[in-house]
Amino acid sequence: IYKKKWASSQPRVPSTRLALHSMDMSYSLQLGELWPSTRLALLCQQKYAALLNGFGDVSKTIREMEGRRARDFVYEGRGDRPASDPSCPARPPVISGDMAPEMEHPIAVSPNLKCFTFPRGDITRFKPARPDSLRLLEYYLMDAASLLPVLILDVQPGHTVLDLCAAPGGKSLALLQTECCRHLTVNDISSSRLSRLRKILHSYVPKNIYTEDRLRITSFDGRYWGEVERNTFDRVLVDVPCTTDRHSVLEEDNNIFSRLRLRERQRLPLLQTQLLVSGILATKPGGSIVYSTCSLSQLQNEYVVERAVQVAKTEHNVELRLVDLTAVQTLYSDTFNFYGRCRVGELVLPHLTANFGPMYFCKLHRVH
Ligand code: SAM
Repeated sequence: IYKKKWASSQPRVPSTRLALHSMDMSYSLQLGELWPSTRLALLCQQKYAALLNGFGDVSKTIREMEGRRARDFVYEGRGDRPASDPSCPARPPVISGDMAPEMEHPIAVSPNLKCFTFPRGDITRFKPARPDSLRLLEYYLMDAASLLPVLILDVQPGHTVLDLCAAPGGKSLALLQTECCRHLTVNDISSSRLSRLRKILHSYVPKNIYTEDRLRITSFDGRYWGEVERNTFDRVLVDVPCTTDRHSVLEEDNNIFSRLRLRERQRLPLLQTQLLVSGILATKPGGSIVYSTCSLSQLQNEYVVERAVQVAKTEHNVELRLVDLTAVQTLYSDTFNFYGRCRVGELVLPHLTANFGPMYFCKLHRVH
């Protein structure tokens, strides 16, 4: 009884403070001289982008955006140029051995994806989106870096796609905006978060687009997906739960650095690996997987990818090739501040002049 009383009279340390302390310890080692500027950006106002709703009246919205000097960063970084284009040189792979990345042509982005941002250093904010004449919202406000995993997934017409951890649905909405998915399965373990996703789809996508044969919404534990539906999808997005670094240093609500959630936080890398392995197994041989987090942590990023590739090979005899993404870095360097030193994958570092991210992403190609 005495102990309890003592414990409750202890001043409560805010979870945001615990988060910052933990990040100071690990990221000052991991990022070195880049941590102070990244830390500052994380604590300052995040920058948003407006993903245009292609199902609505886009020409009017584009005119308005251009009038306000916002620009479509997807268009500016389009990779339709041949890979040999000297203005877009391919950089040498950064790692060697088993995990040496496969060079890939710059991504061929669907012309339907349009996402406007204000230029570097400009912190103007977008107004909340309004409904257009079709009663659909004209744009969806999101962290522009969240679009990168969707862009590199490189969905082509006729593809079947699985979004394994989809809620609240920003990336699912972008996948639908490409208008390339023959079929999209959207899954999340949380039914309450899935209801947010349904609301978003309702506000942005006409009903005739999400007929049951084209869009399936499910609520399963994604760790077991690969056991149920193996070798099925052309593209799989595994956007896992993580320490959501920006949220964790700013918001007390639902903070994973709360002392009560220590075990859950410690188990994240294991959960992330299980989800990625499951996503790999759900992919067809010849298909691709994108893994992403909104954390800077190596333990949740590179280590998870390396471990999942190993598990896929030793336990499931599945061979994967890492896809080189340096072209993406080159194409979008006007908009984002890339770290450029990850062993595998790419990381967008928040910076005051381009305050997007953090966003880590890595692409794997399933060989067999
Ligand atoms: N992709 C989403 C977007 O762009 O809006 C964000 C996904 S969020 C980073 C991670 C999601 O994973 C959460 O919605 C969470 O409910 C879900 N999740 C956690 N554990 C899961 C599991 N075992 N299987 C499937 N989803 C899970």
